Amino acid sequence: MNKKKLVQFRSQLESIRSELLGGVEKSNQSVKNGELGQIADISDDAARAYNRQLEGELGEQEWQKLKQVDLAIEKISAGEYGICAQCESAIPEARLAVVPYTEFCTQCLSEMEKNHKTIIVNDENSFEEN
Ligand SMILES: [Zn+2]
Repeated sequence: MNKKKLVQFRSQLESIRSELLGGVEKSNQSVKNGELGQIADISDDAARAYNRQLEGELGEQEWQKLKQVDLAIEKISAGEYGICAQCESAIPEARLAVVPYTEFCTQCLSEMEKNHKTIIVNDENSFEEN
């Protein structure tokens, strides 16, 4: 995948992420003025989101999604984005465009769903089989 695409996916992921966190925190304002010092960093946000989740403010599905989004952003940084975590083949960009935080290719995902239905939290924009 070329760099331009990665940048696109990354900004897509970041906006999903801030939407998820924004729903909880309204805005980053309170955080930026908070006593936590430097924040803009993913793990801090995730830690806060985790706390919120414990408080029941972030739903289980949002929480799962947030984790996937964070993971995808990490993968972009690591140069591993768009690789299926199961079979290590490239995930089609068309699929990433729909669910940019997906960890698995379509094939692995449907097999997992067949085998054990629980593991994957599906996006509401669930992909379509071709
Ligand atoms: Zn796969």
